[in-house]
Amino acid sequence: METCPHCTSSKLRKHGLARNGKQRYFCPACRRTSRPAPGTNAYDEGRKAEILRAYQERTSLRGLTRIFGVSRQTVTAWLKKSPTTAAAEPDASPAAAG
Ligand SMILES: [Zn+2]
Repeated sequence: METCPHCTSSKLRKHGLARNGKQRYFCPACRRTSRPAPGTNAYDEGRKAEILRAYQERTSLRGLTRIFGVSRQTVTAWLKKSPTTAAAEPDASPAAAG
């Protein structure tokens, strides 16, 4: 299953062929088209978890790009999807009910 390089969604649809004959994909989630990377695979889940963990240990995005060679854009997309980091909302008002 291909994943969207823009938003990491896995619900891609086939979108015809590129001029070089490669399969193209359309992502309904972010409405962008993409094609499979020429050689390298996307990051596997283990590496992704490792990178996100490093981020939570206060490693800066710039540090991650240097250490893991992952693009800042990719990490940002992961953070948006990650349930653990998404929970960190600035609104800390105590909802005291009752
Ligand atoms: Zn997408």
